[in-house]
Amino acid sequence: MNDDTSERHAFALPGTRPQYGPDKIVNVEHIDLHVTPDIDREGLDGICTMTVRALDEPVALLTLDAVDLAVSRVELQALDSKPAGSLRHASRGEKLDIVFDPAIAPGERATFSISYKAEKPRHGLFFIKPTAEHPEKVTHVWTQSQDEYARYWFPCLDYPYEKQSTSATIVVPEGTFALANGALVDRKTENGRTTFRYRQDIPHSTYLVTMAAGPFAEVALPNAGRNGVPVFYYVLPGREADGERAFGNTSRMIECFEERLGAAYPYARYSQIAVADFIFGGMENTSATTQTDRTLHDETAHLDFSSDPLVSHELAHQWFGDLLTCRDWSHAWLNEGFATFMEAVWLEADLGRDEYLYDIFVCVEAYLAEAAQRYRRPIVCNTYRDPIEIFDRHLYQKGGAVLHMLRGELGDARFWRAIRRYVEANAQRSVETIDLIRAIEDATGRNLRSFFDQWVFRGGHPELEVSATWDPKRKVATATIDQKQPVDAQNRAYAFDVEIAFAPGPSAEKERRIRAHVERAHETISVPLDSEPKLFRFDPGAFVLGSVTYRLGTDFAAAALLGDPDVVARIRAVRELAKDGGLAAREAIAAAFERETFWGVLAEAAAAIGTTRAPWALDMLVAALSHDHPKVARAAAAALGNFHDPKAATALLERGLRHASYFVRATAAMALGKTRDPRAFDALSRLAGERTWNGTVESGAVRGLAELADGRALEPILAASRPECGTALRRAATAALARLGSLVEETRTQVVDELERRLDDEYFVVAEAMAGAESLGDLRLVPALERVGRQVVDGRLRREATEAAIRIRESAKIPPAVKMMRDDIDELREEQRRIQEKIETLARP
Ligand SMILES: [Zn+2]
Repeated sequence: MNDDTSERHAFALPGTRPQYGPDKIVNVEHIDLHVTPDIDREGLDGICTMTVRALDEPVALLTLDAVDLAVSRVELQALDSKPAGSLRHASRGEKLDIVFDPAIAPGERATFSISYKAEKPRHGLFFIKPTAEHPEKVTHVWTQSQDEYARYWFPCLDYPYEKQSTSATIVVPEGTFALANGALVDRKTENGRTTFRYRQDIPHSTYLVTMAAGPFAEVALPNAGRNGVPVFYYVLPGREADGERAFGNTSRMIECFEERLGAAYPYARYSQIAVADFIFGGMENTSATTQTDRTLHDETAHLDFSSDPLVSHELAHQWFGDLLTCRDWSHAWLNEGFATFMEAVWLEADLGRDEYLYDIFVCVEAYLAEAAQRYRRPIVCNTYRDPIEIFDRHLYQKGGAVLHMLRGELGDARFWRAIRRYVEANAQRSVETIDLIRAIEDATGRNLRSFFDQWVFRGGHPELEVSATWDPKRKVATATIDQKQPVDAQNRAYAFDVEIAFAPGPSAEKERRIRAHVERAHETISVPLDSEPKLFRFDPGAFVLGSVTYRLGTDFAAAALLGDPDVVARIRAVRELAKDGGLAAREAIAAAFERETFWGVLAEAAAAIGTTRAPWALDMLVAALSHDHPKVARAAAAALGNFHDPKAATALLERGLRHASYFVRATAAMALGKTRDPRAFDALSRLAGERTWNGTVESGAVRGLAELADGRALEPILAASRPECGTALRRAATAALARLGSLVEETRTQVVDELERRLDDEYFVVAEAMAGAESLGDLRLVPALERVGRQVVDGRLRREATEAAIRIRESAKIPPAVKMMRDDIDELREEQRRIQEKIETLARP
């Protein structure tokens, strides 16, 4: 569905109030941590020594964030006017009050040490060790402080605006390595214990403070950048080669980003440590990124898997996030939008412009899906319960796409000049969006307040339909740009500049390109030409953020697919041609499969023709399954799942499941299930018992089993959920269960019970159980979801649980017959649109 009757909801959950930062009474200048993690008891002994300076009022009471920390003592260190001594203190809920008597005078400093213990912390500090189900696990410990979990392992003012230098002393058993932020200044072993001391001089926020410890192996990469920064990665012993595949490009990335940003990598060293069971992909802790060990991969995975997006993202944060930090979470796109955009910038430097443009295109598509299915919100937004709620596709992908659009608006040279100014002027500071706007103004003279109002401070996007015609009598070519989203007094049409071009031949050579201003719901741009154009181009560089549907007609669409130099234009063209389905359209698509040089266009072509379910598409997809590029083969495999045809199943069985790539095999397994072929059950049950990298192939198999809509699938899916199966497979099995429950009525009650049990499982299984509960839509799961929504500490899970409960309740209010009617109406509308298009195409001269 794509109209306003869709499943979209308001972003803010009921009862949410706008969030504002706290007042500030002191400036925290330094935090020194002395910590001894104890893995056996899953606890930590700590001394947190803090230096604060009072602002312009005396400070008699200082309230810190501290959750479940048992504070035994707070000692004031000697100060000019005062002797050392104990300070009165009291823990109060999630706060620690410290009383200063006499008060710290305005402008005066105080240094005090808090002695505390953390026992089995509920968040922030995680202990990994062998279990009965997983005897292979290696003992280690790591922290995750973003957004507001530093307070679970040390007392602090836990808010991004507060930036301080830090130092850390970590005491671990001999043979254990420990990592913290900044330079390693000392390391000594005495009496079976090793003490690591780190110092981070450039101030940073508490959410970036890290500690990780375990029997890690250290691998040095080439020193990098202007300052010859030492670069390391840390992996558990035996994973060094996998680490090289994952992190091997890091030094080159540092050099690339320094060059683009005109600013040296800011810290003393750069380390990445790969830990088990990490709850994110990566976390950009200042100078010491934590990465998930799922990104370590073998040679087979390396065929069509790269850690570069993750590695470049976290590295980009060292500037955007760590050096320039969002003042308030509501502006967190200045962290995440930039890091997402810089992933594409690395791709551009490493693999070229097609990869860059396609990466941004995929970002836009990801955002559009969220906007269609979940909600729309301004990118800058302060209506949340937990900050993590806004860490969605609006923040990352739309944020990244806005920066790409800004690049188009300013042109390359001015864009990078503006970004350099922004970095230079705001290094070591806290930023809000206005700081970016001002830096652009300073560097280029351009006042972009209306641009930011439209794309950052306002939700939504334009839904564009683009067509082109040629009038041979008047010798005028006309491009029409329609905005299909609701436009009225409250929702003005989007205003933007866009380039269009007409070329006399099949390529862009000798094109006539013009820059047009669009501001109305229906715009036409006429261009007088000497002769009939063969190629029409819309928005080269794909800068305009929104959905773009081509209605060019077969000739222009075929010309675009085969001749437009821009990958995004070729994708838009193949989508139009797939819907068209006429002989000329099919010939153009077939020619593209012969000639196209960029895999992304063919992957999109496979997806687009797959949705037609037409016999001609089936033949092309069967052929595309043998394409040299595994990502094209993967897309073809996925698309073959649309066909309930033995030919599709045979191709998937004989070539898909035997492909060298884990991902092609996994996708083929899932698609094979969708074909409902009688041969699938045995093949997939066998495959579900395999053990491949990150559970990839077997995960595809269990999801494929669910798609068979066959009650027999329950047993192998449950078998794949056993605790010893590993997180990735258990997660896939959880999704598969929910799917099976919605396809096979007799399994439903058992599925409901299983999903409910999994709401108290390990992190990713819980997340998957919530998503599964929502898609199953069974009211019996609502009380459990609401309970989790209230109780769970993790903000992301709290949001998912609450949202799932609301959606299940609301969807239950719609009678099933109406739901079916809605789907039918949507399908009819789509069909009608296709027929209408056909008529229009035929009517054209
Ligand atoms: Zn990030």
